Amino acid sequence: MTFDSLNPATGEVVGTHPQHDAEAVKLAVTRAEQAAAWWAELGSGERRRRLLDYKAIVTQNLRPLAELVHQETGKPRGDAVLEIVLTITHLDWAARNAEKVLGRRRVATGLIGLNLAATLEYLPLGVVGVIGPWNYPVFTPMGSISYALAAGNAVVFKPSELTPGVGVRLAELFAQAVPEHPVLQTITGLGETGAALAGDPRVKKVAFTGSTATAKRVMAACARNLTPIVAECGGKDAFIVDADADLRAAADACLWGALSNAGQTCVGVERVYVVDQVYEPFMRELKELASTVKAGEHYGPITMPAQLDIIRRHIEDAVKTGRAVKGGPESVRAPYVDPVIVEDVPEDSAAVREETFGPTITVRRTRDAKEALELANASAYGLGGTVFSRDTRGAMRLARLMRSGATAINSVISFAGVPSLPFGGVGDSGFGRIHGADGLREFARPKAIARQR
Ligand code: NAD
Repeated sequence: MTFDSLNPATGEVVGTHPQHDAEAVKLAVTRAEQAAAWWAELGSGERRRRLLDYKAIVTQNLRPLAELVHQETGKPRGDAVLEIVLTITHLDWAARNAEKVLGRRRVATGLIGLNLAATLEYLPLGVVGVIGPWNYPVFTPMGSISYALAAGNAVVFKPSELTPGVGVRLAELFAQAVPEHPVLQTITGLGETGAALAGDPRVKKVAFTGSTATAKRVMAACARNLTPIVAECGGKDAFIVDADADLRAAADACLWGALSNAGQTCVGVERVYVVDQVYEPFMRELKELASTVKAGEHYGPITMPAQLDIIRRHIEDAVKTGRAVKGGPESVRAPYVDPVIVEDVPEDSAAVREETFGPTITVRRTRDAKEALELANASAYGLGGTVFSRDTRGAMRLARLMRSGATAINSVISFAGVPSLPFGGVGDSGFGRIHGADGLREFARPKAIARQR
């Protein structure tokens, strides 16, 4: 059986791919087990060289790969290029830092009367299953794949059914750097293919990125074999504007955070809390900037048709209970959605509670930063978030108290692109960390050895 990937802007078929069944997944895992043993044995120095070769090959193929991302997701070509450039940065960091983070080191034991020489190292797990989403079809899965490979594992990757072509290409390019064994394989298919991968007892860890609802299903499949999982799920990021913020910069970041990837970003801005003193001037700036952006130029279409219904429902809900500042249900012009800004939407409405995954924001006036923080933290999600303030100490305090995996100060979603910073959420946004040293350790097991001298 096969399925097609479509260009969401034109409806044209981009590619046709096999729907891998449970047998095909089993075979891929068998091949991955053999490849994992070879890759682990190769040693960290040679793995680093091969991963840097892969980086060079991805860099050489940046344009055609970006074109494929553009076709399968509909996002503007420039955004596709940016996503791959950030991926390359992560790949480079993972390759260069794996040995330093995971390699063997002496550990002081500090036990009186015991003469122990102890070492600690982080060993590969074996086969890692990566299940990815479609919104950043290179950047997001590669945030797990690069680190899992650098830690010495083989990877079986199940890309989203909306972006299978990109997933297949990533493994083909890897095979140019590592032709000996299938250390990175891509298996295409729908949810069942992902479920078969998660349920295979030989998969030693699953790195899942997608919705919270699917994460629970993946966890249930993994639970049968006690397979650990990293769950990178949805978000409902808050954006706090404090009294002393640079309002123009804040409005600019807020709009970009909401519109980036047409709002189809897990760390996209969806809830905005502005302190009373600066509410009106901030809204003036935001409205003015929002009137300058254009569909097709500044943002692409909504990639997944079913998402349009969720976005429409949230907009209808928001304008019914709140006050539309810009746009409304008419902003949903399939496959595009123009930016929608609604103020005073009750905090218990779907538009404030649920992930919209579209270019819509709700804005609320708060007495002070304390109330803004309380409302920001009332969400079930906790992925990213933003604080805008010129008061560095005050902003740091708010950022630390924000219930999120990461918080940006005076910018938006900047942390995701920085390879040395861990990425992940709390609550319904998931658990575990990708990127950085924590991301490398996520795909390795600590091994302690204590020798009696
Ligand atoms: P999704 O949950 O629908 O699908 C994700 C992947 O899971 C797909 O490859 C899908 O085929 C697979 N899948 C579906 N059912 C499965 C099952 N029963 N077992 C195993 N695999 C299964 O998510 P999506 O629509 O592709 O992506 C959008 C979501 O991803 C949003 O909620 C977004 O916030 C989230 N996301 C999170 C991050 C992050 O890093 N936290 C990054 C990007 C996207």
